[in-house]
Amino acid sequence: MITQIDFQIAQKRALEYLQRAGIAITPGDAENIEVADYGLGELWQTGLELLTYLHSDRVCARELVLLPWQTCPEHLHPTMDGQAGKEETIRCRWGTVYLYTPGRPAPSPRARPPENRTRYYSVWHETVLRPGDQVTLSPDTKHWFQSGAAGAVISEFSNACGEEYDLFTDPGIQRVTLVNGD
Ligand code: ZN
Repeated sequence: MITQIDFQIAQKRALEYLQRAGIAITPGDAENIEVADYGLGELWQTGLELLTYLHSDRVCARELVLLPWQTCPEHLHPTMDGQAGKEETIRCRWGTVYLYTPGRPAPSPRARPPENRTRYYSVWHETVLRPGDQVTLSPDTKHWFQSGAAGAVISEFSNACGEEYDLFTDPGIQRVTLVNGD
């Protein structure tokens, strides 16, 4: 749960980041920026701002904003009933993104998960994304990412896949964000 005030602050800051990244934003887009706190109520640590351009039955395209040190928590997109899970390409547009996936763990990772949640972060192979760098994540692959001190803007391209199926490592996470006063 987040407060109406935090929702508005996050939306406004995300808009500023998108503008800084040189992304054209209509007034309608600005109103449609989603704020996700993953149900943990610690938005400035675990959270993400999203602007979805297209989410059809087949594809999804959107911008993600990470405010400074904000973390998109560890999750994977599962294969369900023989249907491949989401294949997701993330491309850094602005700022720096620390991405973690399965593989050889970084000896001294540059990102740090929110302190009280470290136990729910299990993959530590580090890829640093700067503007123009992109990585494609296969279905069923655990991943999480955090921005550096400056925040980051990321474009995400994927096949459509119900977010309700995303599997998060942290059992406390809920994908739907409740705004106090809704
Ligand atoms: Zn993902």
